[in-house]
Amino acid sequence: MIKVSAYYYDGVSAAQKTVEVTFSPGGAAWVSGDGVHFSTSLDQLQIESRMGNTPRNIVLKQGGKLEIADNDAIDQVCAHFYRRQHHSWLYRLEKSYPYALIAAIIAIAFIWGAIEWGVPRLAKVAANAIPLKAEENIALEGLKTLDDWVFEKSELDLQQQRHLQKLLQQIESNLNSDYHYQLKLRSSREVGANALALPGGLIIMTDALFHLAENDQQIIAVLAHEIGHIEHQHGLRAIFQSSVGALLMAGLLGDVGSISSLSVTLPTVLLESRYSRAFELEADDFASAYLTSNNIKPERLIEILTLLSSQQSTNSDFDYLSSHPAMEKRIREIEKP
Ligand SMILES: [Zn+2]
Repeated sequence: MIKVSAYYYDGVSAAQKTVEVTFSPGGAAWVSGDGVHFSTSLDQLQIESRMGNTPRNIVLKQGGKLEIADNDAIDQVCAHFYRRQHHSWLYRLEKSYPYALIAAIIAIAFIWGAIEWGVPRLAKVAANAIPLKAEENIALEGLKTLDDWVFEKSELDLQQQRHLQKLLQQIESNLNSDYHYQLKLRSSREVGANALALPGGLIIMTDALFHLAENDQQIIAVLAHEIGHIEHQHGLRAIFQSSVGALLMAGLLGDVGSISSLSVTLPTVLLESRYSRAFELEADDFASAYLTSNNIKPERLIEILTLLSSQQSTNSDFDYLSSHPAMEKRIREIEKP
């Protein structure tokens, strides 16, 4: 309890009445004396800030005011009052904690969803908006970097090279595609037996893969798989997904002119980040559909994938298996009728 003397003005007459104000710890205030008797609560009082030792006014919301000279006592009341406010704020928060938690979970889920679904979707839209010519330029720049980085000239003889080119032409003639497919043959100690799909229709195949394959149909299966990556624009989409900034640039500003700088990230995406499992399954799907409709058993794809995965131990850096993850699942998918 804090008890202070005060002057009371009722706000109607100019009369000054001497009263006592008692503040209870519960937040009530009793005003009594000189014919005045009423109680109110602290939140009905508007206490002015302290100005040195000049008497302080407390305005009553119901009308009228109190004038109190004992500033220290009022400070005490204020300290109590504000602590109470603080308490009630905490109290409210505690009470609403489950709601705050739910709101936080929804917010996190929304952000996660935006990244998980929004970015890939936006990447797909952006990739679709890229003109074919720009796509080809990105691929050529990417190829240059890859040639500096991991690839050397193919050591296959001219006849072998021509044969492989013919296999690709054969596939292309069976497809109704906007892309003009090109096969770039390379040798590489680091990459081993491998094939890569660059945007714009560019496919790289290593000599080691040619040697590993047991027959043409297995090579056709690999080429069809890589074509699947290109048809679904996996290279571009992977670049966009790895660079949200570039994605926004292309998707929102329509600035495709500066997109060729994206080719810088292409080799990294192809060799290090690898394609996602979803992209691999999509390319497998494309390949097995192609094989089936051209009277080649989809098993040829399983065979070459198995061969590629069995040579992974010799190539720990760039193994085909890690770029083509979850073999068992993929084989099951290909085997599906
Ligand atoms: Zn693949």
